[in-house]
Amino acid sequence: MSEEKTTRKLSIEEEVEIYIDAILERAKDFEFSSFLLGAKKEVYDEDDAGLLKRTLGVRLCLCDGWLDRGRDVDWRHPDLVFILCGIKDGEAQIALKIRSIYVYGRYRKHERGISQTRWVCQKCNGKGCKKCQKQGRHYEESVQEIISAGLCPAFGSGNLGFFHGMGREDVDVLMLGHGRPFVFEILKPKVRSIDLEAFTAKFNEGNKEKVTLESLRLTNFRAPALVKGVSPDKSYRAFCKYLDTAPSPEKVKELPSAFSAQVLDQRTPQRVARRRADLIRKREVRSLVIEEEREDGLLLAIRSQSGTYIKELISSDEGRTEPSIAGFLGVPCVCAELDVLDIHISDDDALTKPEPEAESVSSGAEENGPDSALQ
Ligand SMILES: [Zn+2]
Repeated sequence: MSEEKTTRKLSIEEEVEIYIDAILERAKDFEFSSFLLGAKKEVYDEDDAGLLKRTLGVRLCLCDGWLDRGRDVDWRHPDLVFILCGIKDGEAQIALKIRSIYVYGRYRKHERGISQTRWVCQKCNGKGCKKCQKQGRHYEESVQEIISAGLCPAFGSGNLGFFHGMGREDVDVLMLGHGRPFVFEILKPKVRSIDLEAFTAKFNEGNKEKVTLESLRLTNFRAPALVKGVSPDKSYRAFCKYLDTAPSPEKVKELPSAFSAQVLDQRTPQRVARRRADLIRKREVRSLVIEEEREDGLLLAIRSQSGTYIKELISSDEGRTEPSIAGFLGVPCVCAELDVLDIHISDDDALTKPEPEAESVSSGAEENGPDSALQ
């Protein structure tokens, strides 16, 4: 501002002296390989900025050794950005922006009752109310928080961090096999390089009853959109429980072939109808195998197109999924237990922009959005 400019007590050169000491002091806490300096527009005009740049540039090159240690200015994605916001009472006012770190990996969930992300009670916004039994949240633990409690301190971050999953499983469903791809964004990291293999081993040892990790690698800010932008097939193990009587043995025998390459019409399940558009989606069951026949039901291995509602495939959801296993067997059934056994995508493919292609069965792009918006 012009008023501030005329009352500026120090010359730019004197300000720079103060800035450099302050920046070096702040920078001590961080591991970084690139940085950028900026000047706040409201405080400095273009002439000032030019003078700042010249003065700072000379000083930094000559005496501070930042550049000598191989730290390049990275204009597009610097690790740190120091914004010079003026000198107040002899003290440098510096705003510091710290680039997030993005870690890709896959998680397995070994215990039921853990939600994927922190699920704050919407009625009280976390304060605690009757609906959430004064907890402020719907589930005590989440995959997000368990991963955060390991990853964030390892990178010197005290924040929760953002979790981006490739879809999600229900709270009562286990995530097994090679796990579900995710990207975790670590906010304001002080450390940028850790031994991810050693981290994984230690994390898995401490969390083996609940959540374990594999395939961790550093990635970038584009990764969350990539991971959310693909819809691979999934394999499940489901226990189809008879509610009433057992079906005829002939029907059981015919079940696998009846549900191989079988396209379903799935109307939005009643249990999620409040938060999702009421649509009929076409989803394909690729294959169905009976792993075990028990007196009270069937243990099934099912591979299906992404977005298939497996619980409703079994129960029919009062006719909203057609055809259904209950309908085919001719007896009422429910999905009493469900585990995700595999998500059929490689790590490299999870981080690669998919080629646009016409989907033969899916109704399209709406598939990935709602999952991420749920909680
Ligand atoms: Zn509440």
